[in-house]
Amino acid sequence: MNNYDLIVIGGGASGMMAAGCAASLGKRVLLIEKNRTLGDKLRISGGGRCNITNAIYDTRLLLSNYGDGAQFLFSPFSQFGVKETFDFFEKRGLPLVVQARNRVFPSTEKSNDVVNTLISYMREGKVVVKLGTEVKKILHKKGEILGVVAGRDTYTARSYLFATGGVSHPETGSTGDGFNWLSDLGHTVKTPTPTIVPLATSEEWSHILAGVSLSFMRITFFQNKLDEVGSVAKKCFSKTGKILFTHFGLSGPLILNSAGKVGDLLQEGTVTAHIDAYPDTNTGALDSQITKVFDANKNKMLKNILKEIVPEGLTPGIIILLKDIDLDKKVHSVTKEERRIIVDTLKCLPVTIINLMGYDRAVVADGGITLSEIDTKTMRSKLFSNLFVTGDLLHINRPSGGYSLQLCWTTGFVAGSNA
Ligand SMILES: Cc1cc2nc3c(=O)[nH]c(=O)nc-3n(C[C@H](O)[C@H](O)[C@H](O)COP(=O)(O)OP(=O)(O)OC[C@H]3O[C@@H](n4cnc5c(N)ncnc54)[C@H](O)[C@@H]3O)c2cc1C
Repeated sequence: MNNYDLIVIGGGASGMMAAGCAASLGKRVLLIEKNRTLGDKLRISGGGRCNITNAIYDTRLLLSNYGDGAQFLFSPFSQFGVKETFDFFEKRGLPLVVQARNRVFPSTEKSNDVVNTLISYMREGKVVVKLGTEVKKILHKKGEILGVVAGRDTYTARSYLFATGGVSHPETGSTGDGFNWLSDLGHTVKTPTPTIVPLATSEEWSHILAGVSLSFMRITFFQNKLDEVGSVAKKCFSKTGKILFTHFGLSGPLILNSAGKVGDLLQEGTVTAHIDAYPDTNTGALDSQITKVFDANKNKMLKNILKEIVPEGLTPGIIILLKDIDLDKKVHSVTKEERRIIVDTLKCLPVTIINLMGYDRAVVADGGITLSEIDTKTMRSKLFSNLFVTGDLLHINRPSGGYSLQLCWTTGFVAGSNA
């Protein structure tokens, strides 16, 4: 049915960019999307604000955040990098602003505006969009894709582009279809595991703080190897930054970006962590600060001055952790030993990591097609001469902070220009 130059499967970030780009070059493009709306994952990105890139303009420096994918991405990013992302959106009437940690958002802070910009881009090029249409089968023969089957219809084109996304937040439509097709076609696909994902903890004190976020904390992870019963927990790594407490555990940039390593540690043993609520104050200095507060409030009840020594929002959790201290006692009768327990607790809030949360809560899941099977300059499959692959389908690790969407703009543009 119909002969197009290019069929794009998937109307997410990379698919819409690729479709619009190919159409702007005069190609007849069909985009097939199984949802009734375009860009559902894009709409929930960045909590609905859409962190669309990271303002690091030096390509090599930027790419150092893409792990083993850095070398592969050099050519695509030279064709369409951060500067081009700014130009693309700003020329289309959507100014961008740079916020903390170089994260870039639309000035309206509305992801809908990003989706609408891409829809307009496709409209300009007269991309034909078929919504509510799920591709079920890929037809192929001897290194060439021949068509795609959706319902009773078969659609054909000269080239095909898989932009069906990964497996995180499957309710947005990314259910891993592209991974299955690529495997069936003979490509090597690394099984996805959630990487940028919150952590589940077992302690009640952390759950009770759901909704509290603290911008400056240090978390240190420890591991007990399964085959070393009775061994001392080994310190593995620390990170400092923002932590968000949730009803199941921990989230926020610091946690999301630690999850990949924590997942590896969990494979080999139990993982615990200590959170330091005062990372820039050592134990002695914190003890002196607390002593001063105690001296100024000798006749008050201990529970009534906790808010002066505990970071804002943490008090309900700290009360649980200090269960062995009578908080109704007057400050003047707090013993030196009890004061030491308070200091140690604030420097060392204990959590046990049960596991990584699942795909339903992941921002990005690791996994995807092995890069050596994709041509770096064009995003073309090395096994199928008329197949292109973009976005979350590629096996590229990256942290949170706009790096995933930049990957979509870049690979979408490169594939769309070459398909
Ligand atoms: C909660 C959350 C927050 C995020 N926040 C950010 C952020 O702020 N910044 C950032 O850089 N990244 C963020 N990400 C990651 C980013 O959203 C993704 O990397 C990006 O959207 C992936 O785009 P994509 O084009 O690869 O695929 P997707 O956006 O997943 O689109 C794939 C599309 O293909 C369609 N599809 C799938 N199978 C079929 C089929 N068989 N037939 C037809 N259509 C099909 C799906 O319905 C879907 O619309 C976030 C992710 C999540 C889950």
